[in-house]
Amino acid sequence: MHELSIAMSIIDIASEESRDRADANVIAVHLKIGRMSGVVIEALLSAFEIAREETLLANAELKIQDVPVKVRCPKCECDQLADSIQCLCCSVCGTLSPEITQGCELEVVAMELETSKLTQ
Ligand SMILES: [Zn+2]
Repeated sequence: MHELSIAMSIIDIASEESRDRADANVIAVHLKIGRMSGVVIEALLSAFEIAREETLLANAELKIQDVPVKVRCPKCECDQLADSIQCLCCSVCGTLSPEITQGCELEVVAMELETSKLTQ
């Protein structure tokens, strides 16, 4: 299951970050997920709920930013939203674009941590 392995690597990344900060509690992990990334957000959320048990992320939430697909339109000569993920055409003029410029993301952008000790 694809989403489960993604959930587990998110937990790995966040746990490492937390250990670097004296086992701070991870409250939330912010992710950017492009519509072309192949990740099903609902599946990732349920996989994360299972995978987070008994880890430093047991109480953490995933905050997901859904990133729309943009293509480089040769006619408009700029980045435009794509019509759909099936048709990579410029949503403004309808020209088929050979280049996706946004929407394949799968990245951790931020983390919210809570420390019991006050450290500077
Ligand atoms: Zn265009």
